[in-house]
Amino acid sequence: MPRLQDRLPGSEDVVSYTVRGGQDQYQRALLDVQISGSLNLLCGRCLAPLEYALALKTKVLLLQPGAAPQTDDDPEAPEWIEVAAGQELDLLELVEDEILLGLPLAVRHDPENCRNGKSGADQGMKADTPFASLATLLKPRRTGKQ
Ligand SMILES: [Zn+2]
Repeated sequence: MPRLQDRLPGSEDVVSYTVRGGQDQYQRALLDVQISGSLNLLCGRCLAPLEYALALKTKVLLLQPGAAPQTDDDPEAPEWIEVAAGQELDLLELVEDEILLGLPLAVRHDPENCRNGKSGADQGMKADTPFASLATLLKPRRTGKQ
């Protein structure tokens, strides 16, 4: 999964997936996709490793080209892909797509577990973090050394 690999700092990650064929209530072919695993990502704040638990469940409709559903604005509508009759579907690519869609754009430690908990997007909350008071304690010592 080269596109997923681009998002991962290492190459030891293992995901397992189950893909089951079925039909929806309108007798349209669909795939029931379940993906689970644990990915080693990097925290977007402190760049240290962060273990991300992956648990995805999704249904993907398999539609003939041109049979796109009219329900595209419906957030509850199932995902769909177009597959021509006789066309071979690259399952691994589908699973990779689902993982990429399911991954958050940026993962971060909880502020209390993050080395860099007081920087970045949480800057506005600086005064509220335990590290903020720590920084205040350290400042006079640094000045003393000069
Ligand atoms: Zn972090």
